[in-house]
Amino acid sequence: MDSTLENSSVEVKTNKLDALEKDQQVAEDLNDVIQPVQNSEKSQDNVFNSNQSIQVLSIDVECVATGFSHLDRAPCSVAIVNDRCEILFDSLIKPDKPVVSDLFSFTGVRKTDLHHAPSFDEVIKKVHSFFTPTTLIVGQSIMSDVNWMKLQEGVHYSTLIDLGDEFRTFDPKYGSNKYFSLAHEAEVLLKIDLNATGSHIARDDAKASIKLYNKYVKDKDQSKLQQACQALLRAPTKIPLFRRFSGAYEKVCVSAFNRGYCRCGQPLVSELQKTPAKKRRQNSNDQKEELSSSTNKKMKVIDQKNEI
Ligand SMILES: [Zn+2]
Repeated sequence: MDSTLENSSVEVKTNKLDALEKDQQVAEDLNDVIQPVQNSEKSQDNVFNSNQSIQVLSIDVECVATGFSHLDRAPCSVAIVNDRCEILFDSLIKPDKPVVSDLFSFTGVRKTDLHHAPSFDEVIKKVHSFFTPTTLIVGQSIMSDVNWMKLQEGVHYSTLIDLGDEFRTFDPKYGSNKYFSLAHEAEVLLKIDLNATGSHIARDDAKASIKLYNKYVKDKDQSKLQQACQALLRAPTKIPLFRRFSGAYEKVCVSAFNRGYCRCGQPLVSELQKTPAKKRRQNSNDQKEELSSSTNKKMKVIDQKNEI
């Protein structure tokens, strides 16, 4: 296994803005990259001290391509799941712009299925109805879903829990933090194959996120969480989709985080989001925390949707 391939084991749930690189790995950037975790410290307080009064929801959004660059995306499906793993809402979304590719292998949505789907405006009204100012939202690279659905802090949520960050693990092999895809987390920790249908389905991803949260994050058992992280580190990872397609799917660039695979030349998401690193909560071992806080990192995942 060459170093490049080896690096591919470093998975990063990508920004759904590009909606493609769910299994994105950016090993070469990991030392400089940080997962934005909004309100992370506050979130933990809320999660673990006021759990009784907080509604926990998971939301997942998938996106089709509306152009050929990795930045041209529009939501095509959304699912909301509660903490009992019940699907509260599951809908397709008709994009406002013409669809260049449904990116089926990433979205699980066929272009023809969208013809009679409700509009984005219709869907977002319904989506917003499920959220309250005290809702805790769980998800992988959750900021991208939140931004796609225009969820606002203090209006639609109080806390965000990003599973990508919860399971972030220091990899001594590379001397850097390692992020895992939701698919890897689900496969290793839940024995669920999110790729079983050949593509990602929003409701399945949302359910997996809730299960991971309930099982490994909710009770703040650091020992259990660390064991999970080590299991993720040990388990072999699959080659992410954007690599499998060599960066392009139906001529659409699907590499928003890895310049080597980018086929469109547009700025990478990490380049667009050069936001100062936010203070991260002390959720794991010192080594991990030291590494994450001592480096002036870029945001790894962003304001838009990253995974597909
Ligand atoms: Zn590109």
